Amino acid sequence: MSIMIENQRTPVDDETLTLRQIVDCSPALLHTARPDGYLDFFNQTWLDFSGEPLEKLLGWGWTSCIHPEDVESFAQRMRESFAKGVAFQETSRVRRADGQYRWMLHQKVPLRDSEGKIVKWHGSSIDIEDQRRSEDELRRSAQRLQRSEHELLGIIDTIPSMLWAASPSGEVTQISQSVREYSGLSLKDFLNLGWKRFIHPDDVEDTAKTFFQAIQTGASYSVIHRLRRRDGEYRWHHARGEPLRDPEGKIIQWYGLSIDIDEQKRAEDHLRETHIKLTRASRIATVAELSASIAHELNQPLMSIFASAQAAKRWLAASSPNIKEVNTSIERILRDARAADETMQHIRALFKREPFVKKEVDIPDMLMEAIRFVQEDPKKREVAIEWQIDEPLPSISVDRTQVQQVFINLLSNAIEALEGNQAVPVVRLTAKKDRDEIIVQVIDNGPGVVDAERIFDAFVTTKDKGMGIGLAVSRSIIEAHGGRLWAENSPDGGARFNVALPLDPVNKNPTEDPGYRA
Ligand code: ADP
Repeated sequence: MSIMIENQRTPVDDETLTLRQIVDCSPALLHTARPDGYLDFFNQTWLDFSGEPLEKLLGWGWTSCIHPEDVESFAQRMRESFAKGVAFQETSRVRRADGQYRWMLHQKVPLRDSEGKIVKWHGSSIDIEDQRRSEDELRRSAQRLQRSEHELLGIIDTIPSMLWAASPSGEVTQISQSVREYSGLSLKDFLNLGWKRFIHPDDVEDTAKTFFQAIQTGASYSVIHRLRRRDGEYRWHHARGEPLRDPEGKIIQWYGLSIDIDEQKRAEDHLRETHIKLTRASRIATVAELSASIAHELNQPLMSIFASAQAAKRWLAASSPNIKEVNTSIERILRDARAADETMQHIRALFKREPFVKKEVDIPDMLMEAIRFVQEDPKKREVAIEWQIDEPLPSISVDRTQVQQVFINLLSNAIEALEGNQAVPVVRLTAKKDRDEIIVQVIDNGPGVVDAERIFDAFVTTKDKGMGIGLAVSRSIIEAHGGRLWAENSPDGGARFNVALPLDPVNKNPTEDPGYRA
């Protein structure tokens, strides 16, 4: 059978017909060209795509379908390929029947005879518009991403705090430019716990403990410590870290930042120090004033008692003792002694008037601060203070300043007791919960106390410049909180001061407004 088909206008047999059908049904735009570059065949897909009749496309007519911006370079490349006889691959926009230009990938390969002479060129064009659009979209999103990454890096490097990232196991993976500039260290220096030398030696242990606790539990990390600047100066920083989790909740990265709080911290410390000094000064002033007033108040009845006692002695020593006069003198002695006692009662009442400001207090926090205060004194800094605080400890309602003052007193006393000591001086502070009490112990390896009870009496001191008032006031404060303060000597030497604070002071001591007990 032979039929005419529209494109070729020549009779074709069955086999050719099948091939023609395959060619015309191909999703690719197919064409052939003569060795001189004259395009002599376009498949049906080509004709349907362009909407042009075959006559208009033959030869170089097809160039009218190529986008004006692409046509020149495209035709040039094709001519070169034909001239050199090498395969050709190029992209260009081709106008579709609806007038829309679409990107096409064009390929041509030469067909050679047995002598290698080109007899035909076969070409195909594939619509790559959609692919190109998604590529463009991808490129644009990559550019957008790059831009936002660039902006983010800009933000990270310009914000006035130091940023870092760490792996789930806690190894530092990134540090911002600000960290490099502040510390003078590189990321390499931070690896394998190298960051420890960036932290003040006194803060390393606490920082590492808090950091690895956060790494293990996945809880937020927050610590205040001193960081070494490249010039060697340490500045206070508040470091915080948060974990980033995947949708399953697994930690994939830690991100953190350190904010310089040096000035704020120093101002706060100064304020607190001033407050403590003021409290101390006002207490000393009160004690001095009170001592003067006690002396003054007691002087008169004492002198009177003295005079009456001498008179009684004289009446008794007479050749005939005058019992009546002796009696009168004793009556006077009793009257004056009662007056002295009343004065003492009055002074006690004065002490009781000072009210407490009670609030829920985090005991470990308060104790650590007391240690820091003591160590801020250059004379006391030499002695190491070891601490072992069981956590968590329930918080209790106390007057923070007063109770903290007690521990400052006990720690200061312990350090003072170690002066001139032969052994390596060690002060230890321990805190634990024992049934319904929190027990805090301040232990030293000094000479121990001579009389564990008398030292709590006011004005008992063995120090040249001592007032002998610290332990008396400390015991008053603790007892006013429903607690106990006592001293004992450790079996292996040194003194041990014990403070027991009730968890529920209301039940222990029903007084709502407790005060010192003289
Ligand atoms: P001050 O410290 O002004 O003497 P305190 O009331 O605080 O007043 O202490 C009274 C006395 O108790 C001290 O002078 C000292 O003899 C004794 N003392 C206190 N703490 C200790 C201690 N840790 N080791 C030995 N003796 C101590």
